[in-house]
Amino acid sequence: MHFELTEEQKEIKKAVREFAEKEFTPELALELDEKEEFPIEIYKKAAKLGFTSLRIPEEYDGQGYGLLEDSIAVEEMCRVDPGIGAAMSLSILMLPDILLRHGTEEQKKKYIPPLARGDAICAAAVTEPEHGSDIRRMDTKAVKSGNEWIINGDKQFITNAPIADTFVVICQTDPEATPSHRGQSAFLIEKGTPGFEVTQLHGKMGIRPCVTGAISLSDVKVPEKNLIGELNKGFYYALELFDGTRITVAAQAVGMAQGALERAFQYAKNRKQFGSPIIDFQGVSFKLADMAIKIEAARMLTYKAAWLYDRGKPVSMATSMAKAFAGRAAMEVTDEAIQIYGGYGFLADYHVERFHRCAKITEIYEGTSEVQKLTIINRLMKMM
Ligand SMILES: Cc1cc2nc3c(=O)[nH]c(=O)nc-3n(C[C@H](O)[C@H](O)[C@H](O)COP(=O)(O)OP(=O)(O)OC[C@H]3O[C@@H](n4cnc5c(N)ncnc54)[C@H](O)[C@@H]3O)c2cc1C
Repeated sequence: MHFELTEEQKEIKKAVREFAEKEFTPELALELDEKEEFPIEIYKKAAKLGFTSLRIPEEYDGQGYGLLEDSIAVEEMCRVDPGIGAAMSLSILMLPDILLRHGTEEQKKKYIPPLARGDAICAAAVTEPEHGSDIRRMDTKAVKSGNEWIINGDKQFITNAPIADTFVVICQTDPEATPSHRGQSAFLIEKGTPGFEVTQLHGKMGIRPCVTGAISLSDVKVPEKNLIGELNKGFYYALELFDGTRITVAAQAVGMAQGALERAFQYAKNRKQFGSPIIDFQGVSFKLADMAIKIEAARMLTYKAAWLYDRGKPVSMATSMAKAFAGRAAMEVTDEAIQIYGGYGFLADYHVERFHRCAKITEIYEGTSEVQKLTIINRLMKMM
């Protein structure tokens, strides 16, 4: 693994940075945070420039890069604004990835290009009211009837649910399977299918432009061809997906932390107390140095995981290490940024409190930090 980005990766970083700095204005960030609204126009612009489809192959209208390039873009977007950045980076998560690995050619051609072009948004529904960290059994059931499936159940906390066109939904297809996770399957469901209802969740602590919803499925009928991959393999597909999506979350955390550090650094250079800029006090400057160390370590873990992922190497432990470490680093760095701003850090107009509120999600979604540690310890038990 190289420790320097290639010229092409540097170009991507620069282009995404320029785009985000121009489009994610502080005023818009505050407005969307208050309104809990997805920035659809910015999403379309980002998609037209290819920034949301970097990891999708060119044959499906993507840019043909890997998860490392995607992580660099996610980091840059979250650096400028954590809420808009998170919304952009999750706009087409999971569905293209599962179809590229397990979908039929018909499914790939139908669903991936509109996502890559920014003409559609998708969502992935695993979590249920009673099944969050423990997804070994789903209460949402799909029952075969003739040549269609009838689905009933509830999904909770689904990113993009209120605005998504297509959903991948993990269901229990064999309730008698032992262990139960061997009886789960993944289905494609389109918005507007009768019996499929979405309710937007309001009042999130952070990433408020990244909208979240609860889904109720009542006798939802989907054709047989909407099954993704093999019957009863859904749990394994979900775990495979997490190896990649958790790297995206780690990249979000790195970007959020970097954005907060840069703001705090500038503030510390300008704010004077006791006759000096506060950066001249080691009590402040050492905080900044520690913040920079944590970010760099988090970035290296994230890039390493993405690099392994792109080469098809075993990555679960590296991914979990990156996500758990980057999430904690983001929480600590954004907390210190508020401290450096003093009382002003507590005010929305100074922005760093939003970075802190948004950073918290990186320790929760796509598997909590505790769940990452379970993955790491399970792996260590096999290795040591
Ligand atoms: C904004 C947001 C967006 C989300 N987007 C999606 C999405 O798009 N799709 C989707 O499917 N889900 C999504 N989620 C759900 C998210 O992945 C879950 O919230 C998360 O996995 C935790 O599940 P839970 O909330 O039920 O907590 P629980 O599983 O109930 O956990 C509660 C606490 O117990 C701890 N815990 C649980 N089991 C163990 C254990 N064995 N050892 C140690 N500690 C443990 C957890 O770490 C946590 O601290 C989203 C959540 C949020 C908040």
